[in-house]
Amino acid sequence: MKIIMLGAPGAGKGTQAKMIAEKYGVPHVSTGDIFRSNIKGGTELGKLAKSYMDQGQLVPDDVTIQMLLDRISQDDCAKGYILDGFPRTIPQAESLTKALDDRREMIDYAIDVDVPDEAIVNRMSGRRACVGCGATYHIVYNAPKTENICDVCGEKLILRDDDKPETVQKRLSVYHEQTQPLIDYYNNEGILVSVDGTKDLKDVFADIVAMLEA
Ligand code: ADP
Ligand code: ADP
Ligand code: ZN
Repeated sequence: MKIIMLGAPGAGKGTQAKMIAEKYGVPHVSTGDIFRSNIKGGTELGKLAKSYMDQGQLVPDDVTIQMLLDRISQDDCAKGYILDGFPRTIPQAESLTKALDDRREMIDYAIDVDVPDEAIVNRMSGRRACVGCGATYHIVYNAPKTENICDVCGEKLILRDDDKPETVQKRLSVYHEQTQPLIDYYNNEGILVSVDGTKDLKDVFADIVAMLEA
């Protein structure tokens, strides 16, 4: 099973990707998570990525593509993966298609989690991320058992720097310019499916599972 999650920042890609990955036993591959773990580890890649992420800009295609292709060639990805946050540009999508073609493989579905911009700012201002394991919560819609403490690992939860309203606006405009064209790209490939991401997160998941098992 190879799936791409599409959708605006904050649409719920990560939340759904995690649940799909758990249910079907394939890895959840998030380029944002890989960048954040590099930032935490103080690597050169992390320093480079941070300078773009803090501005709400995309990290350049060349480094992002290389990093993702390396990740999906690891053993745990042999049976499939859920890509969350990649591709985000047409050149990224084309590089992925080509790399898969070379191996006679293909993506099964590109799932667009559709949420209008008006709902996004609210999602983002309430999002909290664990500093330890990267788990994601929402203060209203997906609250941790104890306020500001991660259910999974017990570390503290923070508001990501790039989730502050000024940066969210920038990320949304970058999304419309550079990432939204992928909806047409995957529609033309015949693998696009859309789900209504404004529903409760359990209902969005049920819609995705129903589609995958239809
Ligand atoms: P969100 O979950 O809100 O969509 P991510 O965690 O996926 O955010 O991404 C955070 C930031 O990491 C992006 O704003 C961008 O700077 C960088 N990033 C993540 N994935 C990519 C990608 N495929 N191409 C370029 N930049 C990326
Ligand atoms: P993305 O990976 O697309 O940036 P996330 O999965 O991190 O989005 O979700 C963004 C925020 O919205 C998080 O705080 C998450 O808990 C919350 N969220 C996700 N899905 C829903 C939903 N269906 N309804 C309400 N809130 C949601
Ligand atoms: Zn945690």
